[in-house]
Amino acid sequence: MMDEFDFMLSEDQIDLRNVVRDWSQNKVMPACQKAEIDGNVPDELVREAFDMGLHLVTIPEEYGGLGMSNLTHAILREEVGRADGGFASRVFGFGWEPFEMTGTEEQKHMVADALIPGGIIGYALTEETGSDAVNMKTTAKKVGNQYVINGTKTFISNADSAEFFVLFAFTDKEKGPKGMTAFLLPKDAPGLTRGLPENKMGNRCVHVCSLFLDDVVLDEKYRLGEEGQGYSLSMNILHRSRPCAAAVAVGIAEQALQEAIKYAKERVVFGRPIWQHEGIGFLLADMDMRVQQARQLVWAACKSLDAGIVNKKLSSEAKCAASDAAMFCAENAVQVMGGSGYMREYPVEKLMRDAKIYQIFEGTNQIQRLIVSGQLCR
Ligand SMILES: Cc1cc2nc3c(=O)[nH]c(=O)nc-3n(C[C@H](O)[C@H](O)[C@H](O)COP(=O)(O)OP(=O)(O)OC[C@H]3O[C@@H](n4cnc5c(N)ncnc54)[C@H](O)[C@@H]3O)c2cc1C
Repeated sequence: MMDEFDFMLSEDQIDLRNVVRDWSQNKVMPACQKAEIDGNVPDELVREAFDMGLHLVTIPEEYGGLGMSNLTHAILREEVGRADGGFASRVFGFGWEPFEMTGTEEQKHMVADALIPGGIIGYALTEETGSDAVNMKTTAKKVGNQYVINGTKTFISNADSAEFFVLFAFTDKEKGPKGMTAFLLPKDAPGLTRGLPENKMGNRCVHVCSLFLDDVVLDEKYRLGEEGQGYSLSMNILHRSRPCAAAVAVGIAEQALQEAIKYAKERVVFGRPIWQHEGIGFLLADMDMRVQQARQLVWAACKSLDAGIVNKKLSSEAKCAASDAAMFCAENAVQVMGGSGYMREYPVEKLMRDAKIYQIFEGTNQIQRLIVSGQLCR
């Protein structure tokens, strides 16, 4: 299987992409279409993803991971995302960025050892205050060599399946952003409970729940970085993780485009296939351009990270462009398919529901535009 931009990739990347594409299209997509109602994807499918090592792509080899580049990670996420966005979150989980940035050797080994047999990381920042994370309420009170943590995190992806969470809490609320600290929270910490999975519009193959922390006691060795570094860490993690999350949105956009092309070639009205009606043909051309632009931004942002350059403008642009492209393509795929596009027996209404979340999480697209404009005008 060759793609238009394969000249930009290595042979290994193309081979790996093709294996993951084949598996995603033939196994993940049909299984996730069936699992849509309750979001309970078959355990065997998750196991297959872990056996392929998808959850280990960014963990360095010295800790037992696959140590792949951000670009390779994005290419694989796009393929799984093409088949099902929620499943991509379920099996890739959150990345290695927090540990790469501040993890001690002990923490890195502890996390990697827990993930290698088959496990993922969750990211627990959001609370009722949403985008205004500086006003969150969760506190971590230091008592001797331990922290006692209380609060509620909302909308946490993989809350019911992650081995660890990267958690943010105030060790000193008076200091504002400089009083926030990051922790590594094990899934079975006493005092940690979960809400029921939220009933979401789309991306149903990953569960999202609240986390309730009631006097959770964590030893100092679970603190990530120094006290007070949590807020800047939370933002810097997201600048690094957004391009690979955006790759899933590129996958959704690509799949919507392909479904629209297939239908537009088959469906005949007014005596010709609908793609030959200019209004539809031009729409397909516009969809393709949006996919290509988004993919190139995602790849550029990944290559920047691979070169050791954290370019937050580029990361936010990639996230914003990819998720807007996913929504544009999914919505227009429904339009191209007319009444059939609106029906559940066709795949595009699901893509439209799935696409929406990529404009909201990992920082909404308004927040991304704030970052981009702030960088442009600083
Ligand atoms: C399915 C799902 C999965 C999620 N997974 C996770 C997860 O794993 N971990 C985690 O920590 N969080 C997660 N989230 C939370 C997500 O990141 C937040 O929903 C998001 O950051 C927005 O917060 P909010 O929903 O409270 O919206 P709000 O912050 O209340 O925003 C409402 C609207 O106002 C806009 N707005 C807010 N501030 C500004 C501003 N300054 N300028 C312009 N517009 C603004 C927003 O863009 C949005 O359109 C998830 C959410 C969902 C729905």
